[in-house]
Amino acid sequence: MTTAIVWFRRDLRLADNPALHHAVRRHERVLPVYIHAPEEEAPWAPGAASRWWLHHSLAALAADLAKAGAPLLILRGDSLRNLRELARAVGAAAVYWNRLYEAAVTGRDTRIKQALRADGLEAKSFKAALLVEPWELKTGGGAPYRVFTPFWRAAGVLLPRQAPLTAPRPIAPVPNSPAGLPLTALGLLPEIPWDGGLRQAWMPGEAGARALLQRFCRDAAADYGKARDLPAVDATSRLSPHLHFGEISPLQLLARLRRLADEDTAAGLIANIEHYRRELGWREFSHHLLFHFPQTPQRPLLEKFERFPWRRPKDYAADLRAWQRGRTGVPLVDAGMRQLWHSGWMHNRVRMVVASFLTKNLLIPWQEGARWFWDTLVDADLANNTQGWQWTAGCGADAAPYFRVFNPLLQSARFDPRGAYLRRWLPELAQLPDEFVHAPWRSPQALPAGYAPPLTDLAASRRRALEAYGAVKTPADLA
Ligand SMILES: Cc1cc2nc3c(=O)[nH]c(=O)nc-3n(C[C@H](O)[C@H](O)[C@H](O)COP(=O)(O)OP(=O)(O)OC[C@H]3O[C@@H](n4cnc5c(N)ncnc54)[C@H](O)[C@@H]3O)c2cc1C
Repeated sequence: MTTAIVWFRRDLRLADNPALHHAVRRHERVLPVYIHAPEEEAPWAPGAASRWWLHHSLAALAADLAKAGAPLLILRGDSLRNLRELARAVGAAAVYWNRLYEAAVTGRDTRIKQALRADGLEAKSFKAALLVEPWELKTGGGAPYRVFTPFWRAAGVLLPRQAPLTAPRPIAPVPNSPAGLPLTALGLLPEIPWDGGLRQAWMPGEAGARALLQRFCRDAAADYGKARDLPAVDATSRLSPHLHFGEISPLQLLARLRRLADEDTAAGLIANIEHYRRELGWREFSHHLLFHFPQTPQRPLLEKFERFPWRRPKDYAADLRAWQRGRTGVPLVDAGMRQLWHSGWMHNRVRMVVASFLTKNLLIPWQEGARWFWDTLVDADLANNTQGWQWTAGCGADAAPYFRVFNPLLQSARFDPRGAYLRRWLPELAQLPDEFVHAPWRSPQALPAGYAPPLTDLAASRRRALEAYGAVKTPADLA
């Protein structure tokens, strides 16, 4: 009888889980384990909203594994030490896991693989979080891609076409498994209960992901291309946290979209599905960039932005706080920041607007915004967050040019014309007529009680941003 350990990390699902599948196929007994070691991900250990999600996702995974026959063992502390002790205790022959791509994690995983192999164990990792591995794609010159369109074109030929793996059932457990910790011992939930909004908005776990995918295919996919930009409409899949924690795989999404296209070949639907696949492509591209440019969570990809004249922390501290709390006096920015605080998520268009406002109108370094998102988003993902911030700030790969400063009033009027999104998150503005809800200070009436005038003059701060950009402009930017 041989035993395999399956080391769960951010692949918290039974279906389409190559490490688990391999273990069940090749071994008589399987021990699923989760080891909590946030310090090994430093400086990007999960933030508060992610820890909330992780708690509930682990609870869902543990229940699913128990139903399948092999309960989840929960441990804490040094991953290598725990895996070694566990392998010894249960006489395991192999340890399997699915790959992640952040520098701190890949460094640790490589060391663990070598150490376990030196102990005489089989240690093997699998592709499960991405469609294409970051090292599988290179430009003609042999470099990593820095522009999305050629990246996605090149990825097209490598996209997997196989059917996703089904959830293995039953899974034969290890009879003499050591006792683990109760989930609550990990201390992932907040001590002060600020998570009511998160509980209302989400159902972490594999079943929650499946339900959202079904809803998206049924209600939203056919209009995705057009409606995905409207923050008041539930028009996107909201699968980002589920993808981040690996409760659903991108391969499962591709397969489901292919089936949807086969069921209904209307030209409009196919174009919308293609648009959605392209967004999954941005996720792949972000991971490609993070893998090849591991410094980018802290440093701009375009080096000239190292000398960008950001304001100094002591000068911007109060503005940063106002932005974080949704109290800038600019309705679309405030609505987005309050949606984030309440639900742990923000609509993509609004993410771009609040990021542009912070980095351009307030001249606050993008890293401050990325840090706040890291702590407050349930979908906080080092690859996507870094790419989203650098793209908006103009210093990343294939970025919006720096001189593109989103005008939050025009964005608001265009994508939320009736102010439905604004009124949902800013009850102070609920009574304003449509024509003033985007810019309440323009109303002949006094500002609603509790709503401040804008923190900064939008036109003057835009000019200031463009002047600051002059400091890093190169002759190539002027060509
Ligand atoms: C400043 C900023 C920060 C961001 N931070 C994150 C983050 O921490 N985590 C995160 O998952 N996304 C981030 N994004 C990207 C994007 O906003 C979210 O992925 C998207 O809003 C999630 O909602 P959804 O699942 O309904 O998206 P859908 O429109 O349904 O898209 C499906 C999936 O495609 C991927 N995707 C969509 N847009 C992007 C994109 N622009 N870049 C990379 N992948 C994308 C996501 O995995 C998403 O779940 C950020 C964007 C910006 C501008």
